[in-house]
Amino acid sequence: MGGAPFFQMNPKMPHQFYIGIDIGGTNTRIAAVDSNSNILLKKQFRTFEFPSGSEFLSQVSFSINDILAEINFELAGIGIGSPCGNYHTGVIDAPVNIKWDRPLNIKKVLSQIYGVEVNVTNDANLAALGEKAAGKAKGLDNFISITIGTGLGAGIFVDGHLLQGNIGFAGEIGHLTVDPGGRHCKCGRRGCLETFVSASGIVRTYLKELSNQTLSSNLIQQKIENISAERISSDAKSGDQMATNTLKITGEVLGKALANMSIAYAPEAIFLSGGPVGAGDLLLKPTKKSFYQNLIKNLEGKIQIDYSYDQSNELALAGAAYLVRNDQQLVMENTL
Ligand SMILES: [Zn+2]
Repeated sequence: MGGAPFFQMNPKMPHQFYIGIDIGGTNTRIAAVDSNSNILLKKQFRTFEFPSGSEFLSQVSFSINDILAEINFELAGIGIGSPCGNYHTGVIDAPVNIKWDRPLNIKKVLSQIYGVEVNVTNDANLAALGEKAAGKAKGLDNFISITIGTGLGAGIFVDGHLLQGNIGFAGEIGHLTVDPGGRHCKCGRRGCLETFVSASGIVRTYLKELSNQTLSSNLIQQKIENISAERISSDAKSGDQMATNTLKITGEVLGKALANMSIAYAPEAIFLSGGPVGAGDLLLKPTKKSFYQNLIKNLEGKIQIDYSYDQSNELALAGAAYLVRNDQQLVMENTL
């Protein structure tokens, strides 16, 4: 845990800094970030070692105090990204993979302790904020960031602003219907985008293809529980036909959904991140092909699809800090 600051004190450095917090099912990472999105200092602990909300908050506070003791600048705000983080209420509402006993009002608690603005958002929005703060979306006002993992989420920037929507639910595009009456989704509906484009969706497509048995596959001999999106991706890279075809189908569904999103939001670019994106061109090529086939004429040639700046978690920390810094700037602009 912890470690000495790895930056040199520079008299030109801004004398304010932000705390960015990235809460995940496995690790919670906390960083001091300057107003140019540089990470000054990082702390990390295992989320699951603090099973109750109050224990977790104590550990967060302990890490922040450590940072405050090491950095002599003024704390200007705290930004937090978490699964099920709600921008409007500041509450983290019992994420499935974090077993807190009840919703956690992290905004209220931390703003009371530190006396600064605290803002919270969900993990898909955090990826978009990171892209804007320190990734490929620097300088872009209209873009979409797609995160594919156990589900699928989007962060949508329109005219320089991240869409939060009523109850902070904007961007939950994993539940757009792409196949009416199709696969059952955990949301209770059928045919949602993430029943195809997610780690489990990719496995479902593979198993469906397996039942058709029209192509050869190394995975046929595997027990079902050993088949994962990661394995399908690595087998596709070694030339497995059925695994390759599975990624092609995944890309076709994703490309069509991105074309529909583009018609709604007119982005300049769409950035993809998350584990299944590691399949590289095996997923990206069919995604782009389907995207361009389904795009309307007046958007042709105006939108690029690309990988996220990086798959590291640095972007998330810079994004969390940007969340609160950007909100403060908006308030200043509106009061001028
Ligand atoms: Zn759904």
